[in-house]
Amino acid sequence: MTNFVDISMEFALQADQTDPLRSYRDQFHLPKHSDGSDIIYFCGNSLGLQPKAVEAIMMQELEDWKKLGVEGHFHAKRPWMPYHEFFTEKLAKVVGALPEEVVVMNTLTANLHLMMVSFYRPTAQRYKIVIEGGSFPSDKYAVDSQLRYHGFNPEQGLIQLRPRMGEDTLRTEDIEAVLRKHADSIALVMLGGVNYYTGQLFDMKRITEIGHEIGATVGFDLAHAAGNFPVQLHDWDVDFAVWCHYKYLNSGPGSIAGAFVHKKHLNQKNIPRFEGWWGHEKTTRFKMQSQFIPSATAEAWQLSNAPVFSMAPLLASLELFDAAGMVNLRAKSLILTSYLEFLLGQIQSSRIRIITPKDSEQRGCQLSIQVKNSDKSLFNAITEKGIIADWREPDVIRVAPVPLYNSFLDCWKFTEILKGCLS
Ligand SMILES: *Cc1c(COP(=O)(O)O)cnc(C)c1O
Repeated sequence: MTNFVDISMEFALQADQTDPLRSYRDQFHLPKHSDGSDIIYFCGNSLGLQPKAVEAIMMQELEDWKKLGVEGHFHAKRPWMPYHEFFTEKLAKVVGALPEEVVVMNTLTANLHLMMVSFYRPTAQRYKIVIEGGSFPSDKYAVDSQLRYHGFNPEQGLIQLRPRMGEDTLRTEDIEAVLRKHADSIALVMLGGVNYYTGQLFDMKRITEIGHEIGATVGFDLAHAAGNFPVQLHDWDVDFAVWCHYKYLNSGPGSIAGAFVHKKHLNQKNIPRFEGWWGHEKTTRFKMQSQFIPSATAEAWQLSNAPVFSMAPLLASLELFDAAGMVNLRAKSLILTSYLEFLLGQIQSSRIRIITPKDSEQRGCQLSIQVKNSDKSLFNAITEKGIIADWREPDVIRVAPVPLYNSFLDCWKFTEILKGCLS
């Protein structure tokens, strides 16, 4: 299904008509261009669009607060006290986890630190952390600061994976070679599930296997994978994972994030943790005793009571993910992104080049278009014509046709505009 030949607009329209997920687009607010037409929104990898159902849910919380005050913790339509629990079942399906392995809390980088407190336990001999070179800056800052916190110099303690000369992305065999070479000194392997810059999807299952073989802990930052690719965290035996929900999971700017702790690490007294009252076993939490009794689930890592306004939009979005199903979304995504790649391939221009892997098993929906000589004017030109994508320094335009609300026609129009701006 990835051999496209037809570059006509009719083909795009036809493909939209037969798309079984086409109705989900209507569940979202699409930003408008200044002339009133729909923007082509290819930025769901950075900030997902607002589901129409969000407003009513937010209004309900405001109303309950207005009418009930503190009583809303128990008597709101969706009681605030167990609010985080409303996400567990559906979120577990999105990331391939058991319900007790996931929790919504805090923000991504905060969760990354909390997970490293528990799962980066260096010794004098085994202390190194492996990340991908060109990782998202926040991840790099987080691991550097963890190394320093434990008394190690990041210069020695951090191993950054680099592509081969002349290549843009990493080969699994090369990742394996690095892990085996430093087998005795690596404490933690922590990669992005999908690299934010190149769009490369890593073989998380294989990397976890190798990481465990050499005696390391393996965690993933799923900021660009959650809601984009059907990860199977439990079955892959990943130790921990963190992600945000405002990208592919459409829960609004800076909203609540998520974390996964594998079942084998739950209820383990020898795993340290930074603790707070919301991690306390809930039947006795309000006895307010001074001794901490941890929850038997990933909820043990929670610190504080639920930030309801930051969580409410996620209810609307997870409803849609649950109805559409990650497997169906991935099936559409494979076709949609290949279609965009096909159209882009028809453009005769040496100014652009796609650096995302051609193999669709090694990518989610995003394509990263590298622009020759870091010429940002191309990005500015397509933006003026009604496209929202993003520019990532030094030289990449990222475009993400997301299967939940983007259409084949979006891909077609995008390509026409890009072609026009290149000629
Ligand atoms: C988006 C993103 C972040 C953002 O971190 P916040 O704590 O949510 O601000 C971090 N890491 C990666 C890999 C990202 O893609």
